[in-house]
Amino acid sequence: MTSGPLVRAGTGFATLRGMLDIEFAKRAAEAAIDDASAALRELSLDIHSHPELNFEEEHAHEVLTRFLEQAGFEVERSAYELPTAFRATFGSGSPALAVFCEYDALPGIGHACGHNLIAASGVAVGLGLKAALGPGNGAVLVFGSPAEEGGGGKILMIERGALNDVDAAMMLHPSPVDGAWPNMIAIEMLKVEYFGRNAHAAAFPWEGVNALDALVLAYSSISAMRQQMRPTDRVHGVITSGGVKPNIIPDYAAAEYYVRSSTASELAELHAKVAGCFEGAATATGCRLELTSLGRPYREVVTNDVIAEAYCENMGRFEVRLPGRGQQGGAIGGASTDMGDVSQVVPSIHPVFGIPTDAANHTPGFTAAAATPEAHARMIRAAKALACTAIDLYAKPELLASAKREFAAPER
Ligand SMILES: [Zn+2]
Ligand SMILES: [Zn+2]
Repeated sequence: MTSGPLVRAGTGFATLRGMLDIEFAKRAAEAAIDDASAALRELSLDIHSHPELNFEEEHAHEVLTRFLEQAGFEVERSAYELPTAFRATFGSGSPALAVFCEYDALPGIGHACGHNLIAASGVAVGLGLKAALGPGNGAVLVFGSPAEEGGGGKILMIERGALNDVDAAMMLHPSPVDGAWPNMIAIEMLKVEYFGRNAHAAAFPWEGVNALDALVLAYSSISAMRQQMRPTDRVHGVITSGGVKPNIIPDYAAAEYYVRSSTASELAELHAKVAGCFEGAATATGCRLELTSLGRPYREVVTNDVIAEAYCENMGRFEVRLPGRGQQGGAIGGASTDMGDVSQVVPSIHPVFGIPTDAANHTPGFTAAAATPEAHARMIRAAKALACTAIDLYAKPELLASAKREFAAPER
């Protein structure tokens, strides 16, 4: 469905929360997003061509806050004591719905997770809702959250009060596939270091304590352990330091490991097994082990069914039929996001939208795909559906109440 002559931008739906008002509001939102599409594409490409890592997203922070200010949002730059976070607000009171932007890139491969599209989608949803909301309808908060790729920006924002008055939260993420129930699991990021003793590797090897041996043993032990892991578990590491010269027995070796499980409690079990592998290798070689955390662990995403179903219904406006709950299969399995922590605090959704590509996230192919006009068009479509979903939540108090009941249910 496209915007037509029914559009009455900015009239809101305060007087009559009927179907007609809601449809007017949705068409106003869609028209506003269409009107801004070219500017959003420029914004997205600007961020794409300035890839910035965790907590260093100064350019993205600047262009996004400027854009939102010019669009009439009340913008707080460097919000929550984070230099590259922001909060942009329109409207007031309740309900207050939040949409998250992400804009960090990956080392060496740029915007290989397509966060340029996420940033533009958050702004798009904000613009759509600004056009649809009338006085007394509530508030929209567009959050700029830094460092999704490992720094846990959203976790810090939550701790500093970002969600205190928020009723529900949402965001979009590009992917090779579409879906409203992506399987986003809990993660912890570990640094593993072994300390041994140098020795001449040929003349006096018995003097040495080989830190690389410890690391290789640990790597192999974890590989042997995989048979006993749940199919939903993930353990993956890279060796970041493995000695300097073959004729010196390495006194230091290091690796980084990501450990993931369906839930935070399963992750605790898996952590114990992985830690056992690291400790066993230290004992076997006589090395000293240091196991430290590389930033905050992320919790799993709990998709709110009520809101996700509303999103699926609104994707139907564009003749897109998304897989229902439990029908997603293994298409998107095992990634993680700090949106998981958001979803543990307020009812949330984190739908993924497919962009045309054969490549998966975190590859150079995906970086290229995230800049195409086709990907932009898919982002615009998903942003319209998300804005329409938010309009449903603003306009139908019973829908938001039922999302909150689901969130509060003990079996959740
Ligand atoms: Zn990513
Ligand atoms: Zn991502």
